[in-house]
Amino acid sequence: MAEASPRIVIVGGVAGGASAAARARRANESAEIVLLERDAHMSFANCGLPYYIGGEIAERDKLLVTSAAQLRDRFRIDARPHQEVLAVDRPRKSVRVRDRTTGETYEEAYDKLILSPGAEPIVPPVPGADAEGVFTLRNLEDTDRIDGFLRERAPARAVVVGAGYIGIEMAEQLARRGLAISVVEKIDRVLPMLDPEMSRPLESALRVNGVELALGDGVAAIEAEGGGARAVRLESGRRFEADLVLLGIGVRPSTDLADAAGLERGAAGGIATDAWMRTSDPEIYAVGDAAEYPYGPTGDRRRVALAGPANRAGRLAGEHAAAGRAAPMRAVQGTAIVRAFDAVAALTGLTEEQARRAGFDARSVTVRHPHHAGYYPGAKPLLVKLVYDPESGRLLGAQATGEAGVDKRIDVAATALAFNATVRDLAGLDLAYAPPFGAAKDPIHMAAFAACNDLDGLVAFTPADADLAGKQVVDVRSAAEVEAAPLPGCDPVHIPLEALRDRIDELDPQKETVVSCASGVRAYLAARLLRQRGFDRVSDLTGGATLRRLVYPGS
Ligand code: FAD
Repeated sequence: MAEASPRIVIVGGVAGGASAAARARRANESAEIVLLERDAHMSFANCGLPYYIGGEIAERDKLLVTSAAQLRDRFRIDARPHQEVLAVDRPRKSVRVRDRTTGETYEEAYDKLILSPGAEPIVPPVPGADAEGVFTLRNLEDTDRIDGFLRERAPARAVVVGAGYIGIEMAEQLARRGLAISVVEKIDRVLPMLDPEMSRPLESALRVNGVELALGDGVAAIEAEGGGARAVRLESGRRFEADLVLLGIGVRPSTDLADAAGLERGAAGGIATDAWMRTSDPEIYAVGDAAEYPYGPTGDRRRVALAGPANRAGRLAGEHAAAGRAAPMRAVQGTAIVRAFDAVAALTGLTEEQARRAGFDARSVTVRHPHHAGYYPGAKPLLVKLVYDPESGRLLGAQATGEAGVDKRIDVAATALAFNATVRDLAGLDLAYAPPFGAAKDPIHMAAFAACNDLDGLVAFTPADADLAGKQVVDVRSAAEVEAAPLPGCDPVHIPLEALRDRIDELDPQKETVVSCASGVRAYLAARLLRQRGFDRVSDLTGGATLRRLVYPGS
């Protein structure tokens, strides 16, 4: 049981730290709470920074969620900006702090210590990375520097290095500011955390909006002239002119304080934590990007550098430190969403690639459906992929891309995943429906139906990028559809679905047969028909021509 009036010291005053402080106060009115933040601003909206730079968020003040003064007045939290914690003295239960405004250092005693120091952007060790005009984005200071550079220097060309969440958001937002953008990514696709076919629609959106992509290529050097960035040279020898370079290649957890204090690190490199976010020293908690969380789909512990887990873990640790009790940290799933112009992508849990790497004999289905009833104006196509265990049907992960309705489907899947649901559970969900919002059979249902059909042996799937040589490929679309978007990498027999019964004699029932249409629905009907007419080896091409055209090499 914690002391009646514990003295709680918190390192880092933004997502995890500010949540911890506010919850600690709500849990214990008599606790002494000291919130130490190295920088000038506390409790600001990191996630909003790209949108302020791009101008979508017009007022800088909107990024300041709570001020130190408000934390003091409303919560009686001793919130101190410009205070950098230099070391933790565990035997004496105190931290050494440097006041960055005066340079003086002092000791601050704690009963409970909560570490939420976040993460540092990784800067690649290439020549020119320290040139003027080269930026990382982590906090308001970085934001002001980038915004100031944009205003004063009016750069014309930017290169964004790294096509993860921040890279993609910044590519979009810098384009909004009128810059010509190139994105460089070492992996062969944007958003490498998604399966390849799920990231392709975002690549298209970036290209359509004039963003040049250099994929599968790393940065070799940043060329500078007079101290300022002028160009980015890639490992392949390609060269992009750039007045501004934004490095977004990932973050490294800030574990220096914890390391120096002898706190254990976990297998994923973050500060090791238990169910209440306590470190190997039970008087010290760690939350946010520096810490490790239980990870739902695999049961191991991982770092997940996202705001939701940081806020929830901070809240939990604050309550536990202040009151000696809290519900344990629930598993995280890496649920995330990102937008590139009109295209949105989101995921929860494991992708198919990750599931295989984690040792699951995973299967997947991908369906394409309108985000709400197709007959209601404004329906946009939505691609939904479910990854599941073929034995139990347990959902392992989900991804979605489209222009609308992506968030809703991923949040439904994330909720299902949190409760260890199977694809059969998903198929039976009672979801809200009226034509402007969804469909009586929602895209989530349609994906789950396809997965259930697979589990029940009603249908088999052939991967969208499979080698179809030697197989009897039947394309059941109309002639006009086939002409507009041919199926790449094979020589299919074209028999529109409506003519299949009459022309079935043109096909050989002994041959392994793969049926395809635009996105999978008509192929499923055709495959069921063929199976019942003596074709034993029939499968559907996952996602039909739409998906194959996204993933087939060279298409
Ligand atoms: P932070 O919120 O970074 O806070 C750590 C604080 O600790 C910092 O202010 C730092 O100055 C301070 N600190 C560090 N060391 C010390 C020390 N020794 N003494 C005192 N203070 C110290 N996540 C999402 O889920 N969705 C998004 O859309 C999203 N967008 C993002 C956009 C950007 C540009 C960035 C940078 C991040 C984004 N994130 C997003 C990630 C999310 O912001 C982080 O996961 C979250 O802020 C982590 O919380 P934290 O408390 O661990 O670290």
